[in-house]
Amino acid sequence: MPAPHHPHKPATLLVHQAVDRDPHTGASAVPIYQASTFHHPGGECGQYEYSRGANPTRENVEQTIALLEGGIQGFATSSGMAAIGVALSLLHSGDHLIVPSDLYGGTYRYVTSVLPQQGIQCSFVNTADLEALKAALQPNTRGILLETPSNPLFTIADIRAVAELARERNILTFIDNTFMTPLLQRPIPLGIDVVIHSATKFLGGHSDLLAGLVTTADPELAKALKRFHNSFGAVLSPFDSFLLARGMKTLKIRLETAQSNAGDLALRLQQHPSVSKVYYPGLSDFAQADTHFRQANGPGAVLAFELASSDQVKALLRKLQLPIIAPSLGGVETIVTHCWSMSHAAIPAEVKKEMGISPTLIRLCAGIEDVDDLWHDLEQALHTPGS
Ligand SMILES: *Cc1c(COP(=O)(O)O)cnc(C)c1O
Repeated sequence: MPAPHHPHKPATLLVHQAVDRDPHTGASAVPIYQASTFHHPGGECGQYEYSRGANPTRENVEQTIALLEGGIQGFATSSGMAAIGVALSLLHSGDHLIVPSDLYGGTYRYVTSVLPQQGIQCSFVNTADLEALKAALQPNTRGILLETPSNPLFTIADIRAVAELARERNILTFIDNTFMTPLLQRPIPLGIDVVIHSATKFLGGHSDLLAGLVTTADPELAKALKRFHNSFGAVLSPFDSFLLARGMKTLKIRLETAQSNAGDLALRLQQHPSVSKVYYPGLSDFAQADTHFRQANGPGAVLAFELASSDQVKALLRKLQLPIIAPSLGGVETIVTHCWSMSHAAIPAEVKKEMGISPTLIRLCAGIEDVDDLWHDLEQALHTPGS
């Protein structure tokens, strides 16, 4: 895209992206450059060399996430977990990392089973509590990873405060921004070093691909990330890069509809006799709303709620017709997750209990269906005879 006279707004960036039309043919979509390698005329390397290092279809989504998040370079990976791996490659043996106590199950598995083998130790901290975070700092603390809102209990970390605390101590900050997307929360301008996405979720948006994205505004960090991305090789394929680019074009309207549906469902769930608690940043009784809305401009499309018994959970999962019952989120279809056995299955039962994830907790990510149809389905699935 030629340098704009004024910076384009996110909705425009999402549609026109970094490469607007194929520069060679004018084709409306960036083609799938399904090639592993590139001809070197006369032995001289051209713009592209080998697809692990760079591929034009992948480059479009990489530059687009950088534009959206305010980074200088982006990296597209074969999954969100590969994005976490690429980002955390900035840490070295002997370093200490602080992570949120209720973090995504796959990330929990990575930081408890892979990083220790590489000589990197982790502490689990309620990152919403700045004093607890300070108390967990060690002389070798080199990184703080945030997820805000956290998953699935919606604790909110103060991004600016954590970034400031880290910067004073030369600690790198990472944020998994999957739940919010750059449309609702942009952590780099708030002081975060590295932003990570599971693009499998909202950015892809159609539950048809796995992808991850990483971006940073720091040239030195970008260089190190680039080296690892190319060395390790868990890069996004050209076809999946195309699907991701296609999905991202409609992020704004998908997210707006899904968010509106989530707000509606959160209110209705709150009034349902079978539901004892609803977690959603958009509810008026959400305890950390102030912090959340100082750094994000929407509550998002994900909520969680607590049922009274395991029998009710079983009945709900058996009776629901419309939602996919699965460990994922961010699709056009509503997705219902039993966190205990799905998204957070990698976390031992006693740790889950400590974290506050109970077997009766249900996560719901609203899709873009008609909200009355969604509620009708939920209501019949929540109905317990005799109640
Ligand atoms: C799904 C998810 C991941 C992992 O992404 P994959 O694409 O499944 O590898 C990481 N973080 C969060 C918050 C997620 O929801």
